[in-house]
Amino acid sequence: MVWIHIVGGGVAGLSLASELSKHPILPGTVVVSDPNINARDDRTYSFWSDRDCSNFLPGTSQYSKWVVSAKNRSVTQTGTNWHYYRISGRAFFEKCKKVIERHPQCFLNNEAVVSKPSAKYVFDSRPPAPDRFRAYQSFVGIEFKCEHNFAMDIALLMTNMRTEDSGLYFEYMLPITDTSLLIESTYFGAMPGDMKNLEKNSLEWIKNNNLTGQVIRKEQAHIPMGLRPSTNDDWGIPIGARGGMTRASSGYGFMNMRSWAKITAKKLTSGQPITRYRPPLLETWMDLQLIKIIQKKPQHLPKIFLDMAQKTKGDDFASFLTKARPLNALQVITSAPAKPFLKSIIQMIQEK
Ligand SMILES: Cc1cc2nc3c(=O)[nH]c(=O)nc-3n(C[C@H](O)[C@H](O)[C@H](O)COP(=O)(O)OP(=O)(O)OC[C@H]3O[C@@H](n4cnc5c(N)ncnc54)[C@H](O)[C@@H]3O)c2cc1C
Repeated sequence: MVWIHIVGGGVAGLSLASELSKHPILPGTVVVSDPNINARDDRTYSFWSDRDCSNFLPGTSQYSKWVVSAKNRSVTQTGTNWHYYRISGRAFFEKCKKVIERHPQCFLNNEAVVSKPSAKYVFDSRPPAPDRFRAYQSFVGIEFKCEHNFAMDIALLMTNMRTEDSGLYFEYMLPITDTSLLIESTYFGAMPGDMKNLEKNSLEWIKNNNLTGQVIRKEQAHIPMGLRPSTNDDWGIPIGARGGMTRASSGYGFMNMRSWAKITAKKLTSGQPITRYRPPLLETWMDLQLIKIIQKKPQHLPKIFLDMAQKTKGDDFASFLTKARPLNALQVITSAPAKPFLKSIIQMIQEK
């Protein structure tokens, strides 16, 4: 019998399998199934870390400054211990696959799984159905190669924030090399964003910044901002975005999945019990308040994000967006405009 069957070879699935592959002798075989195991150039991963990740993969970009802005206001934050990183999805998947394929007990199967596999442990990372999303982060990103030097080392995290059609729009831009960049026009809202409109916004950003050159790659997605409970259609233990490992308030999940995989591989190889992932309660509660604001009062969002960025230090802002802990959460709550937060708390109490 297979020891572990992982359905889906994305970030969560390959992270777990590659952590398991670090153990020379495993209690049984590990299988990862994915119909797209060999074709993965569809995304870029960004994350904050307080460890030096500049050598994580060849071509990793590192940013010590990031900008949050709206029409009449702009805040630039500087990270001291925390930095923002960008890696290529393709490089990440290649690295994981190399480690997994070297292990005699680990197998990558190019296949779609159609029913619950039989194994001692089954981990299910198929993407969650969109009707479970509480709110949506929709974006269209364009990787652009400029004809001229584009020297900039600041990450534009949430710039030109504005609310239209009952949602928040902003532009996100990461310089990749001196002559290339990734621009993502992004939308937070209760309904999925219009991808054509978002693509148009990304192309307009390139034009408005007088950049000439060539589109190299496009990436787009609707990412869940919070998930409603599943109707019991998980196969085994849900993981990754399906298992609630992407941060509801930001859509970030990469680092959380990496650390979950490390801990889980240790537990599995030492025979400890495995339970499904639960985000910290404080984080769930805070993110739910933000989602309510996204759903009902998105016009407050630019001020919330700008006040948070202005009144917190870069390191606290980055650490909070990675994982909410009591101290950084308190700093963020006290810096956010009181009214929308209080209103949503009162509303929550009234709804009970
Ligand atoms: C374009 C994009 C950019 C993102 N950027 C960031 C970022 O910068 N930073 C960040 O922290 N997060 C980011 N995210 C959010 C999140 O971290 C990613 O979605 C992450 O890839 C989720 O990992 P996962 O393992 O849950 O799912 P995925 O990586 O999506 O993997 C799921 C896998 O399941 C496979 N699958 C589906 N059905 C089956 C089946 N029946 N049988 C077998 N396999 C199946 C799919 O082919 C897929 O490979 C991004 C998401 C997207 C879509």
